[in-house]
Amino acid sequence: MEKLEQLYEGKAKKVFKTDEPELYIVDYKDDATALNGLKKGTIHNKGIINNRVTNHLMKLLEADGVPTHFVEELSDRETLVKKVTIIPLEVIVRNIAAGSLSKRLGLPEGAKLQSTVLEFCYKDDALGDPMVNEYHIAALGVATKEELGKIAEYSFHVNRFLTDYLKDVGIELIDFKLEFGKTTDGTIVLADEISPDTCRFWDSKTHEKLDKDRFRRDMGGEEDAYKEIMKRLLGE
Ligand code: ADP
Ligand code: UDP
Repeated sequence: MEKLEQLYEGKAKKVFKTDEPELYIVDYKDDATALNGLKKGTIHNKGIINNRVTNHLMKLLEADGVPTHFVEELSDRETLVKKVTIIPLEVIVRNIAAGSLSKRLGLPEGAKLQSTVLEFCYKDDALGDPMVNEYHIAALGVATKEELGKIAEYSFHVNRFLTDYLKDVGIELIDFKLEFGKTTDGTIVLADEISPDTCRFWDSKTHEKLDKDRFRRDMGGEEDAYKEIMKRLLGE
């Protein structure tokens, strides 16, 4: 497998072409951003941890019946994935109130929601990723009703699986963001990453935050928090 030219450099990852037309290589960086790119920094070894944690979880999800873009971990920071056309939605699943939901609805952080919340944001940095509903998604032609149905079904499946899996290692899954893509043959698969950058993970006993909120909120200790997630999930 040959790594060819860079296609895209995002805030946290780079995407490269390969000599296989249907495969890309994703390369994870230590760069961290928050507040829609206004706050910038680095978290030492974040790229390694996010790569390895994402792949570990994607493999488990694939085995549990959720199709993913994962193909093979190539190195600490690089992973071979199926090339997809990303559906421009940030799909957010919430079990416990936190972050923007707490602000919007006046709920204290940590309040248990009576049922799971599914939200969609239109992926557009210039617009600040505005929240949209299924009517906006249809009106914009972002996804068909059937595609959105599959995305919702997979998102709830990921939530059930991860909540149970993380409970066993003493982590409470507060909320998370997923991205989906379409492969060349039109199959919808889970893409992008599942990591402390994109999930809120709280220690089940102490409720200590073990995710990117430590960076977003200038709490400190983000490196140790990411290391702790890697240790609990991969044992190293
Ligand atoms: P951002 O674009 O938000 O700064 P990243 O730095 O994480 O995000 O960049 C990675 C980019 O690669 C994202 O835009 C993501 O949607 C995209 N991506 C993730 N998985 C795939 C894939 N399998 N095929 C094509 N693009 C992907
Ligand atoms: N999230 C993400 N990328 C984004 C926005 C949110 O990965 O661009 C994740 C975030 O880590 C959290 C969940 O989605 O797990 C919900 O985030 P929220 O809407 O509360 O946003 P925030 O408080 O970060 O503004």
